[in-house]
Amino acid sequence: MSLTDDLYRDIILEHFKNPRNLGRVERPSVISHGANPFCGDELELTMALEGNLIRDIQVQPKGCSISQASASMMTEALKGKSLQQAEEMARRFKAVMLEGAKLEESPEMEDLQALEGVRKYPVRIKCAILSWNTFLEGLAAHRKGEKEASHVEGEEGPRPDLAHLLGEEKGNAGSSESARPAETTPEEQVREALKGVIDPELNLNVVDLGLIYGIQTQDGSVKVTYSLTSPGCPLGPVIKGQMQSVLGKIHWIKEVQTELIWNPPWDPRTMASEEIKTELGIW
Ligand code: ZN
Repeated sequence: MSLTDDLYRDIILEHFKNPRNLGRVERPSVISHGANPFCGDELELTMALEGNLIRDIQVQPKGCSISQASASMMTEALKGKSLQQAEEMARRFKAVMLEGAKLEESPEMEDLQALEGVRKYPVRIKCAILSWNTFLEGLAAHRKGEKEASHVEGEEGPRPDLAHLLGEEKGNAGSSESARPAETTPEEQVREALKGVIDPELNLNVVDLGLIYGIQTQDGSVKVTYSLTSPGCPLGPVIKGQMQSVLGKIHWIKEVQTELIWNPPWDPRTMASEEIKTELGIW
């Protein structure tokens, strides 16, 4: 990790630990709710407007460090700005995150440069832009004379077609099974095979992500307890299908049972491998 990455990480963590403008404004002119089901981030944004000016803006965020830090930085940048200036800043920030535009030097957007590093982790980009999209949605509602708005990440475009992932092309782990040394336990064999199960959203395997909570084997049957990255995750059937597929290639397995559980909720900070945490941009 470079010096710049370290510096950026410090700025992000500093905002995460000491969020600015945390709470809810009194008598809000605009209330906007945002959700990012890809990560489980949520926030409520409230603004008090005075004419065309953002007199006060506050957020109540829940979720990962990047989404919360970005929300904190956003409130700092937008407070006191006119709605047009604020909209322009939101569009500029989104262009940086989504199109790789450069964030020009301006004091109020200084901390936001720390989030440019997040671009390296595509799955975190939605975390970083959630609060800004929630703001833009609130602004659009306000211009229509409405007070409340909501925004959900991922609803603006079509979802990728995931059907092909149900097939066998990803299930390559079973092929190395015959080469496994004799002392490998059945549980280890199952765990190794499950590394061939890829969460399509993150493009990482479920074992290293920490999504496999338990493996029990008895005679020819195996039971796998697992979780998903968020309760809103639409990929449950895809992952289950992949598990059946890779485990079906192990010769002694006659029966595969899978059980999806949400308790404890998946937390990459404690459950994922170190490599994966780096990959996900979690520190
Ligand atoms: Zn997030």
